[in-house]
Amino acid sequence: MSESEPMPVHALADRRRTLRRSSELVTAGLVAPDKLAEIDAVAARYAVAVTPTLLDLIDLADDGDPLARQFVPDGRELDSAAGEGPDPIGDDVHSPVRGVVHRYPDRVLLTPILHCPVYCRFCFRRARVGGAEAALTEAEITAALSYIASHPEVWEVVVTGGDPLVLPAARLRRLVAALSAIPHVAVIRLHSRVPISDPERINPAVLDALTSEKAVWLAIHCNHPRELGPAARAACRRLAAAGVPLVSQTVLLKGVNDDPAVMEALMRALVANRIKPYYLHHLDLAPGTGHFRTSISEGQAVMRHLRGRVSGLCQPTYVLDIPGGHGKVPVGPVYLHADEVEDWQGSKHSYPPASGVAPGRSSC
Ligand code: SF4
Repeated sequence: MSESEPMPVHALADRRRTLRRSSELVTAGLVAPDKLAEIDAVAARYAVAVTPTLLDLIDLADDGDPLARQFVPDGRELDSAAGEGPDPIGDDVHSPVRGVVHRYPDRVLLTPILHCPVYCRFCFRRARVGGAEAALTEAEITAALSYIASHPEVWEVVVTGGDPLVLPAARLRRLVAALSAIPHVAVIRLHSRVPISDPERINPAVLDALTSEKAVWLAIHCNHPRELGPAARAACRRLAAAGVPLVSQTVLLKGVNDDPAVMEALMRALVANRIKPYYLHHLDLAPGTGHFRTSISEGQAVMRHLRGRVSGLCQPTYVLDIPGGHGKVPVGPVYLHADEVEDWQGSKHSYPPASGVAPGRSSC
C-alpha cells in the first residue's frame, strides 16, 4: 500500500491486542458506531473478547460473517426466551464440590478456570465465564482432586472451563500430573478453543504440560471451516506431533454452520487437520441465544447431508444435553425403522431382506 492510500479500518485496530471494550469493537469496524450503547449493555451482562487471531479471520465486508457472528456481541443477547436459563444443562445439581460436576458414573468434569481468550456469544456457561469467579483457588483444586481420588469409579476427567489452556503452563503441568497420579484415572480430556482463538499459546511449555503417561486427549471447539486458519492449523500440527489425540466439538449455530455444505466443509477440514469430529451439539438453552438456535429437525437434515457424502471419519454424533442435568443423548437421524433400513440417499430397504439383495455400494 502506498502512503497516499487510506489505511483500511481493519488495520487501524491494534491487531495484537484482544478487544474487550465496545469502543474497541467500534474502532476495529466490528460494531457500527450507532450500536455502541446497545453493545455496552450486552457487555455489561456477558464477557466480551475477540483475539487478534480471530479479528484477522473476520471479513468486515460481510454483514453476516460467520466468525463475527460467533464473537461480536449482538443486542439480541439481551432478550431471553422461555426455557432459557443460566444453568441450561443442569451442572449445579451434579456438583459435589466447587469446580467438579459428576453427572455420569465413570467421568467427572473439572473446571479449574472460568476465563477464555475469546467469549462465544452462544456459550452455555455464559452466565459464569469471564466474571468474578475466575479460577479455583489452590485449596479448591486440592478439594476437587481429593474428590476424584476418593471415587475409584472415575475413569476419565474432562478438564473444561472456561478454557483450561489459558492456565499458566506450570499450573497446567501440575494439574495434569496430579490427575495422572490418581491410579484409577486413565484418561484426561481437555476441552479448549485455544488452538483456534489463540494458537500461539500452543507452545513448547504447554505441549510439555500435556505430556503424561496417562492418555491426554484434547477436544477442540470449532464451528466453521474458516476458523482453521494458518495459525490454528499449525497449532494442531504441533499438538498432533506431540502425541496428543485430537477430537472436535461443534455447536450447531444458525447463520454459522447450519448450511449443510458449510458443515461438510468443516468436517472435512477437521479431519484433514488430524482432528476426529466427535460431537455436534444442539444449542443449549443459555440466555439470549435464541438468534443462534435451529430446530432438531434442521440439525438432523444437516447430519443426513453428511451421511454417505463424507467418510465415517468425518461423522460427528449429533447430541442434545437434556435440560435439568439428565445428560447427553444422540438425537439422530435414525435410519432403522421397524422392518426397514434407509440408505444415505433416502431409499428404504427391507431388513432382513425378503429375498435376494439389490446391488449397491457401501460407504466406508
Ligand atoms: S471458549 Fe468455550 S467456555 Fe469459553 S466462551 Fe467459548 S464456548 Fe464458552
